[in-house]
Amino acid sequence: MAMNPFKTFLLPELLQGLWLTRRTLFSNKTTLNYPEEKTPQSPRFRGLHALRRYANGQERCIACKLCEAVCPAVCITIDSEVGPDGTRRTSRYDIDLFKCIYCGFCEEACPVDAIVLTRIHEYHMEKRGENIMSKDKLLAVGDRYEAMIAADRAADAPFR
Ligand code: SF4
Ligand code: SF4
Repeated sequence: MAMNPFKTFLLPELLQGLWLTRRTLFSNKTTLNYPEEKTPQSPRFRGLHALRRYANGQERCIACKLCEAVCPAVCITIDSEVGPDGTRRTSRYDIDLFKCIYCGFCEEACPVDAIVLTRIHEYHMEKRGENIMSKDKLLAVGDRYEAMIAADRAADAPFR
């Protein structure tokens, strides 16, 4: 390729870079000091799963297994039984977080708003097996964050 003396001696790329630096030097900064500062989250954010209860404490889940059937990552495992009151309940509800792709299909398929994806995204695992969210763990997340879950769903309801 022929040499371009203009580019060789005047270094226009360097000048373009310096101009870009000058233009952005005094503009508003878009970086945040995470985790002290956080970006706003949508009520539709798809983070950690939770199982919800009704206000009287009864589990919402009726073990219909629609979420298990729809899950494209095949990461939900449900066993069911009939409880003493004659209702069908899950005896096992596991979600493998390593397989989950956070698509939200389980949430969409659930007829009783039992399984939801919360806005919680700051979590980690330290031991083997902690990637499995068991029924107890899912219900504990739901119990703890029910106010946030209910508020998010109410905010999103007009668009569903
Ligand atoms: S979010 Fe998607 S991949 Fe994860 S458990 Fe639900 S349906 Fe399966
Ligand atoms: S979480 Fe919802 S879709 Fe899944 S088994 Fe329970 S009731 Fe059915």
